[in-house]
Amino acid sequence: MSSAQESLRRDFRGDIIEPGDAGYEDVGRSRLAAGSPAYVLRPRTVEDVQAAVRFAVESGLTLSVRGGGHSFAGFGTNDGGIVIDLSPLAGVEVVDPGRHVVRIGGGAHWGDVAEALTPHGLAISSGDTRSVGVGGLTLSGGIGWKVRKHGLALDNVVAAELVLADGSFVTASADEHPDLFWAIRGGGGNFGVVTAFHFVAHPTTDVFFGKVVFPQSEAVEVLQGWAEYLRTAPEELTSIANLANPFAGGPEAPVEIHVAFDGDDAAAAARAIDPVRRLGTVVADDVALMAYADVLVEGGSPPPGIEVLAHDGFVDREAVPEVLQILAQVGTSPGAPSIAIRTVGGAVARVPSDATAYAHRQADLMVATVTGGPVAVVDAAREGVDAIWGKLAPHLSGAYANFLTTADETDVTDVYPKSTYERLASVKRRYDADNLFARNHNVRPGQMS
Ligand SMILES: Cc1cc2nc3c(=O)[nH]c(=O)nc-3n(C[C@H](O)[C@H](O)[C@H](O)COP(=O)(O)OP(=O)(O)OC[C@H]3O[C@@H](n4cnc5c(N)ncnc54)[C@H](O)[C@@H]3O)c2cc1C
Repeated sequence: MSSAQESLRRDFRGDIIEPGDAGYEDVGRSRLAAGSPAYVLRPRTVEDVQAAVRFAVESGLTLSVRGGGHSFAGFGTNDGGIVIDLSPLAGVEVVDPGRHVVRIGGGAHWGDVAEALTPHGLAISSGDTRSVGVGGLTLSGGIGWKVRKHGLALDNVVAAELVLADGSFVTASADEHPDLFWAIRGGGGNFGVVTAFHFVAHPTTDVFFGKVVFPQSEAVEVLQGWAEYLRTAPEELTSIANLANPFAGGPEAPVEIHVAFDGDDAAAAARAIDPVRRLGTVVADDVALMAYADVLVEGGSPPPGIEVLAHDGFVDREAVPEVLQILAQVGTSPGAPSIAIRTVGGAVARVPSDATAYAHRQADLMVATVTGGPVAVVDAAREGVDAIWGKLAPHLSGAYANFLTTADETDVTDVYPKSTYERLASVKRRYDADNLFARNHNVRPGQMS
């Protein structure tokens, strides 16, 4: 046994799961990626995380840090390396009821958070799925059902507790390590293991939520009118348009406009949602009042052998008509990927672009496509999907790290504009000069070439 292994077995009190151990098959893989790590380490304490980080440094093995394990790029696992699986660190605690400050473990899932906060009448704008991790979603953004009113998930973070590459444990906030605090709000998992986040939650009521459905033949008019309206709609309204929903006919599917109105005032909700209803011929409308926690859906785990290919990009105002035109056309073509168009703007756009490492503040929309299926099916679809993104590329302004399957140089450049990247690289040099935390859209400690 090497001295690194001896130290791990002496200092680490959580579970160490290795190939051949019971449960290894389940914990070795992440939600969307197969993996065969040499060690899955499940820490119970900050000291365990410190021991795991020291082991990663001493062993020189590849390190994956797993929050909820939903990364499309499969960052939450690897082959032959170490996974620090934070799932035991999943507590949700209201630590300052007066200011609504909530401390959330770095391995918590958004469903746990919504449920724990409901009895307090509080919520945090997160994503749309219960099983998605607080860690990955927050560190790169967090575009959820209350995003226009309450901003990105990361806009609501006031502090984070981290174990750094040198094994030290620090708090990053506006007052402590402000450079690190800036970087972790948009810079992904590049800077350390976040063992807990401190968020300011907001009071919530039940919300109006559901979808208004239009015939596919009206896609262009509905989408153009929708994007135009959402630009000035009340910020209580957040919306996602779906085309080619594989569960509703794929390229034959109607246009689904999902709406979330952050409030329980029926008249105000109707005033906000009715202009959406007037965009075309409504063929279905199931908008209803429900608890915010019930808005979040369960996220299934695809069985082994199923591959998922995800792309995304931001759309600034002037490019919206052209992009929607392209999407309406490709969304009805054979082999179309599932298309989701998310409204952003509102509170997101009021934060200056350099206030956090998430720089895409002025985009009106974020577009993502997902293709899933057996490997052969996804491989066959790849060329068509690449062609769609080739058409969209000239009209996009950067990418959102959280819906990307790939993490090459182009993706990194799309995720971090040059000035953001350079600032991130200087923070990286200070806190992770040897690039221990590299399973992410990676910021290299050196200068951008
Ligand atoms: C079904 C589904 C629905 C989604 N819905 C939304 C949505 O509505 N809105 C949205 O914005 N995004 C959404 N996403 C994208 C989601 O934000 C990303 O997949 C995100 O990376 C998931 O975070 P995770 O912690 O579950 O993933 P992981 O795979 O565990 O982590 C992703 C990255 O974050 C790092 N990381 C995670 N936790 C920590 C931590 N505590 N400390 C340091 N590094 C950490 C990891 O090292 C890795 O690099 C969705 C994804 C899926 C699969």
